[in-house]
Amino acid sequence: MNKPPLIWTNVAFFLITFLGAAILVPWYGMTQGYGLTEWLAFIGFAFASGLSITAGYHRLWSHKTYKAKAPVRFLFALGGALALQNSALHWSSDHRVHHKHVDNNDKDPYSAKMGFWYSHIGWMLREYQSQRYHDYKNVRDLQNDKIVMWQHKYYLALVILMNVGLPAFLGWLNGDILAMLLMAGLLRLVVVQHCTFFINSLAHVWGSQPYTDKNTARDNGFIALLTYGEGYHNFHHIFENDYRNGIHWWHYDPTKWLINSLNWCGLARDLRVTPQERIETAKLKMQLQRTQDRVSTLSNCDEVLEKLQAEYEILKSHLADYYQAKKELLEAKRKQLANKQLVQQVDEMKQRFILQHKNWKLLTATYA
Ligand SMILES: [Zn+2]
Ligand SMILES: [Zn+2]
Repeated sequence: MNKPPLIWTNVAFFLITFLGAAILVPWYGMTQGYGLTEWLAFIGFAFASGLSITAGYHRLWSHKTYKAKAPVRFLFALGGALALQNSALHWSSDHRVHHKHVDNNDKDPYSAKMGFWYSHIGWMLREYQSQRYHDYKNVRDLQNDKIVMWQHKYYLALVILMNVGLPAFLGWLNGDILAMLLMAGLLRLVVVQHCTFFINSLAHVWGSQPYTDKNTARDNGFIALLTYGEGYHNFHHIFENDYRNGIHWWHYDPTKWLINSLNWCGLARDLRVTPQERIETAKLKMQLQRTQDRVSTLSNCDEVLEKLQAEYEILKSHLADYYQAKKELLEAKRKQLANKQLVQQVDEMKQRFILQHKNWKLLTATYA
C-alpha cells in the first residue's frame, strides 16, 4: 500500500522540538543551570496547557459534559494554544470522530488498531484522511461559541504569543530569557504533548477493561498520572458524557477536581454524571461475559452457565430494587415526605444487594 505524502512541517516541528528538548535543555542546564523559578514555571505551564486540553478541549468542548462561563473558556483557549495541539474546533472534530468510529482504521483519525506509533504521533505526520481535514460538520454547535471561533481564527498568533512571547516575558522579568524559553517553552511543550498523546496510544493498549471490551480503550491508574486524569479511558469510552474519568474519590483525576472547583466558584455548571446504576450494570455484564467465556471449555459447561445466569439475574434485580428504593427516598425527601420506613427500605435493599454481590464475587472467582 502506498503511504500518503508526509506533512513536512509537522515532521520537522516534532523532530526539532524533540531534539531541542533532549539536547539543548540538558546542555543549558549543565553549563548555566536552572533556578527554582524556571522549574516552577515548567510545572505551572505544564498544568495550564495539559488541563486546558483535558478540561477544555476534551470534556467541555468535545463532549459537552458541563457548561463553563466565558472567562474559563477564554483561559482554556489560551492554554490550548500553549499546548499546541491544533485549535479547539479542529481537535474536537477529530475527537468526536474518534469516539464515533473508535478502532475503525478507515475512519478513526488515531485508530489504536493501526499500531502504537500511528495512534501516538504517526497519524499527524502524513496526510491520512486529508479529505475531511476542513470538514467541521460534526462541530456545528462549537461554531456558535465565539471564543472557539476566535481561537480558531487567530490560532497561529496565539501559539506564538503563548509559547514564545509569554515565556520570554517571564524570563526577562526573572533575568534569564533563554532558560525560561527552554523550560517553560520547549521542554514543557514536548513533555505535555507526549503525555497527552499517550491517551490515544498507551490508554488504548495497556490496562484493564472493566466496563466494555467492545473497543480497545483501557483503564490505567498510572496513565492517569501522566494525563491529568484521563487514564480511565475504558470508562470514558463507554460513558463519554460524564464529566469525570476517574469516578472514585481516590482516582487521580485533577481534571475532575478542576471542574468541581470551577463549579463551586460558580464558573461551571450542569456537570453531567452517569447514573451509578448504569455503571454497576455495565461492570456486572462484563464480569458475566468474562466468566461465561472462561467456563465454556468445562465439561459441565451447560450446568455452570445456567447457575451463573441465574445468580446474575438475581443480582441484577437486587441492584434495580436498591436503586429504585433510593430514587423513591430522594423523591420523598424533595417533597419533604421522607420517613423512617423509606430509609429502612433503602437499607434493606442495600444489604440484600451487598449479600448477593458477595455470592456473585465468590462464584465468579471460582472460575477466574
Ligand atoms: Zn473523549
Ligand atoms: Zn480513545
